[in-house]
Amino acid sequence: MKTVKLRPLEETLAATSALCPVCLKTLPARRVRRGRQVFLERVCPDHGPFSTLIWNGAPAYGAWGGPAAREGVSIEAAGDCPRACGLCGDHRRPTCCLLFEVTQRCNLGCPVCYASSGPEAPADPTLEELDRWYDAVLDQSGRCNLQLSGGEPTVRDDLSDVIALGKAKGFPYLQLNTNGLRLAAQGDYAAQLKDAGLDCVFLQFDAVEDAAYTALRGRPLLAEKRAAVEACAAAGLGVVLVPTLVPGVNDGQLGAIVGYALSRMPAVRGVHFQPMSYFGRWPAGRDPIRLTLPDVLRLLESQTGGRMQAAHFKPGTAENPYCSFNGAYLLEPDGGLSPLKPRQGCCCGSGEPGRSAVARAQGYVARQWGRDGRADRPGLRLRRPESLDEFLERSRQYTLAISGMAFMDPWTADLARLRECYIHVMKDGARILPFCACNLFHREAQP
Ligand SMILES: [Zn+2]
Repeated sequence: MKTVKLRPLEETLAATSALCPVCLKTLPARRVRRGRQVFLERVCPDHGPFSTLIWNGAPAYGAWGGPAAREGVSIEAAGDCPRACGLCGDHRRPTCCLLFEVTQRCNLGCPVCYASSGPEAPADPTLEELDRWYDAVLDQSGRCNLQLSGGEPTVRDDLSDVIALGKAKGFPYLQLNTNGLRLAAQGDYAAQLKDAGLDCVFLQFDAVEDAAYTALRGRPLLAEKRAAVEACAAAGLGVVLVPTLVPGVNDGQLGAIVGYALSRMPAVRGVHFQPMSYFGRWPAGRDPIRLTLPDVLRLLESQTGGRMQAAHFKPGTAENPYCSFNGAYLLEPDGGLSPLKPRQGCCCGSGEPGRSAVARAQGYVARQWGRDGRADRPGLRLRRPESLDEFLERSRQYTLAISGMAFMDPWTADLARLRECYIHVMKDGARILPFCACNLFHREAQP
């Protein structure tokens, strides 16, 4: 009789440490595979058992992360992690991108906000204070990429000075995390920021229809988002569109957002999808149902009619593989899309048009072409370019980076992932923390 080997229905992939989503206590945990789903499971002595879906379906969890699928952090090794974090000796990644919070004020009071920002906020740090903060970053993290963040940084009237100061300190790449309202409203603003040295605008962009803005941001904003993109295009500023994906609100918008991004190239350099995490402020009573990275990849595939496929994407190599995916496409003159080999290395949004990044990308593309004979690669519909220069120019202008990042919340936080976090936050002008640890323990709103 023939024996058929069946995969076990349930399998513990790794022992690790996780949090109680109620009291935030660090607990021993397991990653458990059931069929094609993976759950993070633990029991709080005070609040009972918790099982959180962290990976849903294809591509398979084990194949995606390789050896990392079986790595964890034991509860003993966890010690005070992540509560005592200020990037200790156990942290395994240097800073790639640092969030530099120049204000806690915001000109929107979104129903959904990781920072729980709003008009009621403490006074902004002065330019003199920020000068010292920049020096503290240089001391601890060197000349990393900086994301000016908040709050909404554009509520500061001296934002150009803040940017110019960062550039004068020698930071090679500054991107602005913004809702785009001021870029849309003030004619010369984008050019002003560009002149001050800004490299890229990381634009909150949830949909190409207003219903999603009303649900997530409290009012229709599409016209302003489009105007912000046009303002950046006119000023020669690159834009990365950043949708926060919420199931049932805008998870049908991925294809439309990508379509809009392609139509606004070369100004739009990338789309960076962020499945919603549940910290800060979220609509009361909403169950924390979240999109996992494979969910996002499958939505991209179905909503682009297969022009983008899950197989085109790879995990980030600089951080834990379960935090992100990235891929890139060359937009052909005839409107076709050719997948490019995902770019290695560090970037929060990819596709950033900073000089050094462009130089890296150009070098990357030239190496690819020279070595592999790109035109022969299967799945690549690149027309034979007239010259290397022409090819490089087209690549530089018309490569769209598509990426996604799943931030951790109290339900999904896994200390093995947290130790490999490379997106850090400057806290109170002194301490540098992993972004997710900061959100878990150092924001005003606790779960
Ligand atoms: Zn608890």
